[in-house]
Amino acid sequence: MSERIRVYEALQWASSFLEKHGREMRAADILLKHHLHVKWTEFHLKRRDVLSPAVWEAFQKDVKAHSQGIPVQHLIGYEFFYGRRFSVSNKVLIPRPETEELVAHVIESLSSKNDSPTILDLGTGSGAIAITLALEIPKAKVCAVDISEEALHVAIENNDRLGANVTFLQGDLFAPVEGKKWDVIVANPPYIPKKEWEQLDVTVKDHEPALALIGDEDKGVSFYEEIARKLPVTLKKTGFAFFEIGYNQGAEVKSIMEQHLPKRKVTVKKDINGKDRIVQVYPESE
Ligand code: GLN
Repeated sequence: MSERIRVYEALQWASSFLEKHGREMRAADILLKHHLHVKWTEFHLKRRDVLSPAVWEAFQKDVKAHSQGIPVQHLIGYEFFYGRRFSVSNKVLIPRPETEELVAHVIESLSSKNDSPTILDLGTGSGAIAITLALEIPKAKVCAVDISEEALHVAIENNDRLGANVTFLQGDLFAPVEGKKWDVIVANPPYIPKKEWEQLDVTVKDHEPALALIGDEDKGVSFYEEIARKLPVTLKKTGFAFFEIGYNQGAEVKSIMEQHLPKRKVTVKKDINGKDRIVQVYPESE
């Protein structure tokens, strides 16, 4: 390749390099946009610009690292969630678009109700759910729990940088908030069955925390069971709960919730791909 490499030439090289290694070609755009420090609109106008040697070198290094399986988000240090930039590391799950759907659904469900709800996010990871809810529902009082102290460092950094006001507590599920009742409980717990772990992409299984992903050996639903058992004493009678679930866990998680909360309606909602993705628990009075 010539010394004076242009943006479109760098992208051509990277796309075919990534394709050869079975990675998504879109990663090339994300990495180069990052190294050029521009927004998408500017990026698309720069296709004929010549890259500085430093940018070209850094870009090639990242493309090669991604081809080996390192997630793009770990290379650039962030992922966008609900329009905001969240720092990530290998100590937290990288926020997924499916979880944006969960958050949108929570916001929509609460919009006509209690305007200053108390919200608990169990297993907050990067804090994406809790921080987004706190910023989108400014009167909400949001508390977020995680068992991992390293995850909480990431979440607190995100909270402070994004100007949110979430209270973060370390511990296992409800342990740090013992005795409290909530208007809203939300969680994206680890739900991948251990037996499916080996089939996950290298970018996930070698680089994202198993602690945030693996539910249990068999069906991956053990966290829903543990949470459901506590809901009768932690969710207000008028309260709602929302859970992200795996695409094949709808019926199972619905039945777990119904078993522990016989007076409440429970529904399963699909994501934009038509897959079961959210389980919603309604107030007792409805
Ligand atoms: N949606 C994630 C994945 O498929 C899993 C998230 C979770 O276990 N909570 O990688």
